[in-house]
Amino acid sequence: MTAEIIDGKAFAAGLRARVGELAAAFTPQAGRAPGLAVVLVGEDPASAVYVRSKGKATREAGMESFEHRLPADTAQDDLIALVDRLNDDAAVDGILVQLPLPKHIDEQAVLTRISPDKDVDGFHPVNAGRLATGLPGFVPCTPLGCLMLLEDRLGDLSGLDAVVVGRSNIVGKPMAALLTKANCTVTIAHSRTRDLPRHLRHADIVVAAVGIPHFVKGEWLKQGAVVIDVGINRTESGLVGDVDFAGAMQVASAVTPVPGGVGPMTIAVLLRNTLVAAHRNAGIPLEKGAI
Ligand code: NDP
Repeated sequence: MTAEIIDGKAFAAGLRARVGELAAAFTPQAGRAPGLAVVLVGEDPASAVYVRSKGKATREAGMESFEHRLPADTAQDDLIALVDRLNDDAAVDGILVQLPLPKHIDEQAVLTRISPDKDVDGFHPVNAGRLATGLPGFVPCTPLGCLMLLEDRLGDLSGLDAVVVGRSNIVGKPMAALLTKANCTVTIAHSRTRDLPRHLRHADIVVAAVGIPHFVKGEWLKQGAVVIDVGINRTESGLVGDVDFAGAMQVASAVTPVPGGVGPMTIAVLLRNTLVAAHRNAGIPLEKGAI
């Protein structure tokens, strides 16, 4: 059996096009385009690439991109003062502070300063709490993108067994919350999990967010599972995921590739979240299910 490859790049392109249409409709109504501010502190090369591509994607969707590049030795107070200014700026609907921040800055202090209503990354504890309690709020982009790919592939997820490998605040935990909300029976595995293959053997859905190249083996999977590989690992042979792709292709029914799977979804969902924020901030209704 050879699994199908889930084309995250194509799905993300469709989502970005839809965001573009809705942004084009928003702009004349609000008298301004939706705006996303991205803050980069320091010169981490991977972060600089992410920030560049976020800015480009934002402009391509007909939204305003405000890019703030600060030197690596920026004081925490100065960064927080910038966040405060962006919170107060009516042209800014979404604020994203690119992680990781330099070591002398307390990430939590900065992230919790972002207004929860502009927190399009969904990292603020208020939005984490909203997700945990079923209130509307911003959901972190990567897990929301994974859920979209799963629902596109499987339709209703009710009753399916899902294993999320990884419990970070930005991927694993919100992923598990979204799958629970979608009526899956969810297991969260992590570095202390005993006998991971035993858990994976029964999983209809596997989401791998571990940060170890090719960690999840094909022979651990249930026949016909749908496998979402969140991992982005830079190795000598290029970018690879957290799943042994070749092995998984022999057992699963569908697998996301790396690159070209979850990665493109993250930016597309960021644009989607910014569009939603813009409508809320401007008091313009966005039809339920419009995006
Ligand atoms: P973290 O390092 O924050 O979390 C990794 C998780 O994996 C932890 O919960 C850890 O467990 C768990 N883990 C580590 N070793 C094992 C093991 N041997 N068995 C089972 N679980 C283990 O990573 P992130 O969640 O931030 O990212 C995960 C991956 O996803 C990375 O490759 C990252 O680059 C990628 N990523 C991709 C994005 C995209 O847009 N596609 C966006 C964000 C991340 P414990 O909690 O016990 O330490």
